Amino acid sequence: DGPWITDVDGNRLLDLGSGIGVTTLGHTHPEVVAAAKAQLDLLSHTLFTVTPYENYVRLAERLGEHTPGSHAKKTFFVNSGAEAVENAVKIARAHTGRRVVAALDHAFHGRTNLTMAMNHRAAPYATGFGPLAADIQRVPNSYPFRDGLSGARAAARTIEYLEQRIGAADLAAIIAEPIQGEGGFVVPAPDYLTALQDWATEHGVVFIADEIQSGLGRTGTWFASELFGLVPDLVLTAKGIADGLPLAGITGRAEIMDSALPGGLGGTFSGNPVSIAAAHAVLDVLETGEPFAEAARIERALLTGLRELARDYASIGDIRGHGAMIAFELTEPGSTTPLAGLASKIAAAAAAQGILLLTAGSYSNVIRFLPSLAVTDAQIEVALGVIGDALAEYARA
Ligand SMILES: *Cc1c(COP(=O)(O)O)cnc(C)c1O
Repeated sequence: DGPWITDVDGNRLLDLGSGIGVTTLGHTHPEVVAAAKAQLDLLSHTLFTVTPYENYVRLAERLGEHTPGSHAKKTFFVNSGAEAVENAVKIARAHTGRRVVAALDHAFHGRTNLTMAMNHRAAPYATGFGPLAADIQRVPNSYPFRDGLSGARAAARTIEYLEQRIGAADLAAIIAEPIQGEGGFVVPAPDYLTALQDWATEHGVVFIADEIQSGLGRTGTWFASELFGLVPDLVLTAKGIADGLPLAGITGRAEIMDSALPGGLGGTFSGNPVSIAAAHAVLDVLETGEPFAEAARIERALLTGLRELARDYASIGDIRGHGAMIAFELTEPGSTTPLAGLASKIAAAAAAQGILLLTAGSYSNVIRFLPSLAVTDAQIEVALGVIGDALAEYARA
């Protein structure tokens, strides 16, 4: 219920991970549960491409209204985030007639064969699972804490790689998480993403924003792209879209979305009507605007509390994020040398106190908060207290 999970022994756990940013409105949100139950009584499946149904079409229209940009859009629904990434790549290749896809350093895009080749980390996502898909290139990202570059400088570096290692003539798409999730909530420097989008537009490359973790209210805006003034060609959604039911979407420029042959995109369970009904309930709640205010409140509470902790503990090297997507990175004081052991000790100490905290980061040295928007300031204070105790025990000041 809300931010709480009760386990088989009756322990109540404060869930600050929301199943990795899925139950954004909280566990068993009453409107979502009611919508899904009602839909189960009406229709649970037909196969949209054979026998379409209205709630799918209407959800596509609603996502088109809320994703960045006022251009004509279309949406295609699938079952998981990785499936959305795969389909975005298919669409971009069909549209451009080009092969290569560029992903950023510290990216995470999924666990299917294509997407595991796009991730920054081989271990554990690809190790032992090859051969990997061809024609994927990874290029430097913007990571202000580690590279110290302005958005313009970081974009120039990325673009140099794109031009020299791939070349626009072979490049179908650039894919980027506007705020990187598994990579450790890396927030790019201002103007970085728009510079990449501008370069992509100029060279006929499709720009894909993977908003699977950052989208739909999580960062206090409909989409994290808005925080950077970014209007991507394609926007991917999943995780929080149906508050726990499996659903994912690809929303994008109509002329790009229409590139595949009729029947070229599909899937038996794609756009399941029960998941779609739950997603409508999620959008109903988001459209009240209340979740955005809650995300802003959570951001204030977390940033204020973490900055206080950072004054006492120099191992907190960086604090970053937006809305209910906030993280801190643990490093040797005064350097960027990662302290992975400290992050896992803090997460374990929190779990022992009944608080579920997720780690993240390419160096496993980031603690990330992805609470449901139902979490209160008092609960956040308790969690920060437990983190402070763990830092007192394990960190050098
Ligand atoms: C979770 C995630 C994915 C993969 O989604 P699945 O539903 O697990 O396949 C892709 N991209 C990002 C940014 C994610 O956070």
